[in-house]
Amino acid sequence: MRKKTSSTIVPDARSVVRRSATPPNLGQPLVTPLSHSVMYHYEDADQMQSVFEGAQPGYGYARDGHPNATVLSEKLSWMEGAEGGVVTASGMAAISAALLANLRAGDRIAAATQLYGRSLLMVRDDFPRMGFPTDFFDASDSATFADAIKPGTRIVLCEIVSNPMLRITQFKELAQAYKSAGALLLVDNTFTTPAGFRPLDHGADLVMQSVTKMLAGHSDVNIGYIGSNDLELIEKINGTIANMGFNSSPHSCWLAERGLQTFDLRHRAASQNAIEFANFLEGHALVERVHFPGLASHADHDLAQSLLKGAGTMVSFVLKGARANANAFLRAAKNIPYGPTLGDVATIMIMPAVSSHRKLPRADRIALGIEDNLVRVSLGIEDFKLIKRDFEIALAASALAN
Ligand SMILES: *Cc1c(COP(=O)(O)O)cnc(C)c1O
Repeated sequence: MRKKTSSTIVPDARSVVRRSATPPNLGQPLVTPLSHSVMYHYEDADQMQSVFEGAQPGYGYARDGHPNATVLSEKLSWMEGAEGGVVTASGMAAISAALLANLRAGDRIAAATQLYGRSLLMVRDDFPRMGFPTDFFDASDSATFADAIKPGTRIVLCEIVSNPMLRITQFKELAQAYKSAGALLLVDNTFTTPAGFRPLDHGADLVMQSVTKMLAGHSDVNIGYIGSNDLELIEKINGTIANMGFNSSPHSCWLAERGLQTFDLRHRAASQNAIEFANFLEGHALVERVHFPGLASHADHDLAQSLLKGAGTMVSFVLKGARANANAFLRAAKNIPYGPTLGDVATIMIMPAVSSHRKLPRADRIALGIEDNLVRVSLGIEDFKLIKRDFEIALAASALAN
């Protein structure tokens, strides 16, 4: 029982709006407490001033920072080998913040042609509309890098493994080309994860993650991260996050932190499943082609081996036949959800021609290798026997649609 106050005013229903002090407790909670509070209050002006000026630790208003964001961003920074980092409402908020914090009037962006769909729309439509033109290069062809460097190129956006063709970026050449031009190199490391590649160890200025995907891992939270070894850069981005309202919610951070705890185990299991899955598909009578950097048949197999740890958890393949065969295949794959995300704890799949790349003219899409019946699979951690059985059933059903 907590002590009643000695006041003569008896607390009633209307008194409950007055917040109670956290009950005294010598024990420390094992699990990070979820702090939903938007405001943190202080005893007096001196105390608040010392916190706001950074002389004492503390928080003020949740858009500017909160304990769950601090805990999550620290862990993500350990993983990426970053000196500092910040979390955002989503992966897209992280990219937006990194660009908006660094661009000045007259600056240009350089970006890879095979970016995540929304990133591509952002640098193709949104930033040019605001006066920041984008020059594009093919990340898997270093001969295209020089043309995308112009006077005023301020920031370069690339990924390491492209979606959905899983082409590998010629990263060493890219880092060199843009370093010598004085541009900042921002790497979207979502597909690779820090278990496969750590961009900051290889000359990137900024790394970002859609934590939503493999890191959080359970398809129940949107959250982003941006990290760097340059703490001034992080400070600047942090200011932009607060100004623009790109901040994370405590609940999202809490869920992501919980997911992160099993990331390493999940990544190992899913990577092993990806290898077995690619081997199973290669040479299957109902499969036209398989794209997986771990296969000797992949266009960038050697580069993947020298640049990355492992071959990742994503496998793309082309199903033989037409749309009717694809529909039969998807309907028969009852245990493999068909929808737009990746990195879930369980195996899921999508057809990029009707999702991420649906707005590209067909000829341009085919030129990128994204055929009509290309299926992108994000491997989960199930027993591979289950995955194999489900795909055997679905592939057999695809042939019956003829
Ligand atoms: C999903 C994704 C994003 C965007 O992240 P959200 O958390 O969905 O905003 C950015 N880049 C890549 C490579 C992604 O897969």
